[in-house]
Amino acid sequence: MDLRSQLLGALGAILLGALPCAARPHYDTAIVHARVLDVRTGRVRENASILIRDGRIADVVADGAAAGVSAGHTIDAAGRLVTPGLVDVHFHSGEIVGDSLTMRPDSIRAYRRRLSDVYLPFGVTTVRSCGDDERWIPMLQAWMKDARDAPDFYACGAAIVSPNERNFPGHVAVNGPDSARAKVRQYHDAGFRHLKVYWRLREAEFGPVMDEARRLGMNVVGHVDYKVLGIHRAMELGLRQFEHAYTLGVDAIDSTGYEYDNGQVFVDHYASYIHDNQVPGSFFISRMEMFNTLGPASPALARLGDDLRAHGAGVTPTLHVFAQRFGLTWFATPSRKPGYDDTEVLADSALARCRAGYRILAGTVKRLYDAGVPLTVGSDWADPGKACLSEMLLLHECGIAMPAVFTAATLNGAREMGIAADTGAIEKGLKANLVIFDADPLVDPTNLLGRRTVLKDGVLQR
Ligand SMILES: [Zn+2]
Repeated sequence: MDLRSQLLGALGAILLGALPCAARPHYDTAIVHARVLDVRTGRVRENASILIRDGRIADVVADGAAAGVSAGHTIDAAGRLVTPGLVDVHFHSGEIVGDSLTMRPDSIRAYRRRLSDVYLPFGVTTVRSCGDDERWIPMLQAWMKDARDAPDFYACGAAIVSPNERNFPGHVAVNGPDSARAKVRQYHDAGFRHLKVYWRLREAEFGPVMDEARRLGMNVVGHVDYKVLGIHRAMELGLRQFEHAYTLGVDAIDSTGYEYDNGQVFVDHYASYIHDNQVPGSFFISRMEMFNTLGPASPALARLGDDLRAHGAGVTPTLHVFAQRFGLTWFATPSRKPGYDDTEVLADSALARCRAGYRILAGTVKRLYDAGVPLTVGSDWADPGKACLSEMLLLHECGIAMPAVFTAATLNGAREMGIAADTGAIEKGLKANLVIFDADPLVDPTNLLGRRTVLKDGVLQR
């Protein structure tokens, strides 16, 4: 070795020695020895490293290629499964705020803390609220600002209805096309990019809402239920995202005289439960009786599934809401209202009928999945982070394999919300919203409920 190369070598050694101290490491965090779930294919990439910089995934490489990189912080996944952060497409802020309507800045922060606490420990890093009291708009706007210690938050404002005799909190009435369009513009100006339409919205307002939303590039989700506007008509008017799989039962019951003719049990004993809340658990019983009436091979449900697929529409099943009332989940929420969900008082035979109806509902969800209708995960109930995990278990119990359940809970939600360029998968350029499971839920689904480590925007959460 000549002198020149010796000098160059010494210089190189000085530079190499100096760089890690003087300069910022190339990556903020490296997660090494990971098994990475690809939610596009359902396959697991073994022996991989996820490199994170500025809150985003800078690269996913083989462990060997990551051996020499400089990272401020290294997490050894030690062969554990890493999945994208979960997406809850259907939440209501009332689950956090209760009946409080006064939104001072300090309470906005305190409630956001609570929002984080109910979501992040369970791996949910993206949340959309689907209908909130308009007096909470300042809070919704504050929550929509980025924060590394809170879920990414998207809001719809209040659910849009036509004038009606009921005045639900979280609903806002529009009357006529001009009022409908004005409401959409008002929400767009307020920063909302999502809208929720509720089944009490008549066609006179529904069409203009859809039109105006399309013009402004807003994303519309709908709870389409009784005879006001069927699912088919809603699709003709442009709606592509349907909330609650049970509404398919309502639509199928409503849409065919055939089903009514063959549904004497429903007509004789259960139809009155729909509106009058006279019987304990009536809302929950009546919905399940619709499925008992339709049966597991209902032509009307099959037609509806075909129709959804033909229109490229998606469904958020929200199975947990029902299953938790029938003792079919890992946790349940106490009954909220007599005559609504107070199913505790049901006789064993009535509970058995509810469970039978639920199984038909679950079978309907499986057929939607088989038909290629994209499913998403929505909580729509209390303890929403826990409810998302419960929903995932219930989707699996429908007969959907765990990798596809993860796709529903991540990529599908992000796609449906129009934010797949930002989150929903473990890929270069996306946000480093990640969950590391101590025990693999692909091996045993109940491992979903086990210990997990969560990163939001690349930041390790408590
Ligand atoms: Zn809801």
